[in-house]
Amino acid sequence: MFQAFLLKYAEIGVKGKNRYVFEDALVSHVKKHLRRITGEFKVSKINGRIFVEGTGFDFDETIDALQHVFGVIGISPVEVLESREKDDILRSAVEYVAANYEKRDFSFKVDTRRADKKYPMTSMEMDAAVGEVILNAFPELHVDVHNPQELIHLEIREKIYIYSKTVKGAGGLPLGTNGRALLLLSGGIDSPVAGYMVSRRGVELDAVYFNAPPYTSDRAKQKVIDLAREVSKWTGRINLHVINFTDIQLYIYEKCPHDELTIIMRRYMMRIAEHIARENDLLGLITGESIGQVASQTMKSLFCTDDACTLPVYRPLIGFDKQDIIDISEKLGTYETSILPYEDCCTIFVAKHPVTKPNLNIIKASEKNLAEKIDELFATAIDTDEVIVIEDGNVKTE
Ligand code: ATP
Ligand code: MG
Repeated sequence: MFQAFLLKYAEIGVKGKNRYVFEDALVSHVKKHLRRITGEFKVSKINGRIFVEGTGFDFDETIDALQHVFGVIGISPVEVLESREKDDILRSAVEYVAANYEKRDFSFKVDTRRADKKYPMTSMEMDAAVGEVILNAFPELHVDVHNPQELIHLEIREKIYIYSKTVKGAGGLPLGTNGRALLLLSGGIDSPVAGYMVSRRGVELDAVYFNAPPYTSDRAKQKVIDLAREVSKWTGRINLHVINFTDIQLYIYEKCPHDELTIIMRRYMMRIAEHIARENDLLGLITGESIGQVASQTMKSLFCTDDACTLPVYRPLIGFDKQDIIDISEKLGTYETSILPYEDCCTIFVAKHPVTKPNLNIIKASEKNLAEKIDELFATAIDTDEVIVIEDGNVKTE
């Protein structure tokens, strides 16, 4: 029976003075994720790791919650012994191996850490004593001190801890240690993954969705909200800006060559996104683009899109194949929602043969056709921005 968890983190260990900021952020995120699930938990820092002690929790649910915390690289379930008597420790070590290993034919090593220096046995004496009882109980096991298959950790503190297994954590850096950025979130597979990847480096997210009613349905909008809900389980609170893009799209459709629609539309998306980002102190834009995936993502198209704004645009999927992106979206939990068939605003207005090698000067010339009304339409789109606040997987009604 596991009563506790030891969480390991990597990169934040090396950040000098910032280390405390990072550790405190991590502790507070661990607490926040645990608050959502059943059980009472105490979270503390010990020696470059985080220790979570709990009662009344479900094991799988707790592991799942801890696996959503950016910055944690490994989670070890820990058995906490009530007694510090040598005989009790030896008996518990044997019981631990019996309970946690079905096939008992591996090599192992005991590694004792004596945090309580007053404890009467040294760590080497403890290694030897525990190793011996385990060998006696399970003769098919053998000790390998250099390259053991299993490392059985024993920690001597106020209580005794035993652990040997580690499940993978989310990795990355604790949320909120690296500013906020604005994710262009569509209903597709890519953009939720892009947001997740940047957020995993400690960046908090807001999002913007360009909606085109009545050409896109309420279900398409709901799909984006659902994706934001899934993403928020990892990234915390998201302000989702829903921008009504219909009039701008129709105006571009009316005034510009149809093979340039996608590029011009994307340039306006970037401009509106940049405006929202600057208004809200967001430090960059994030998109799910990947080189060559579709016509609007050739190098020349990206060159034209990028020209429309001055904020940094982060494209974490730029070199990824579709299957790699799908794999991450499954892990992230957005795949099932992303593949629902509701149209997004781009598919409605796509030309049959979009330019794949747009020329920026020609695109800019075409945009001049929009001079008469575009500023007004832009302002209206911004003014009618609907902000939906999403946190911990839910829409917050405030
Ligand atoms: P995704 O799977 O993320 O929808 P995609 O492969 O469909 O991407 P595009 O439609 O070319 O590619 O969009 C490229 C990127 O532009 C998206 O990843 C997203 O960041 C942004 N984007 C596209 N459409 C919208 C939209 N309606 N609202 C907000 N952002 C959008
Ligand atoms: Mg899309």
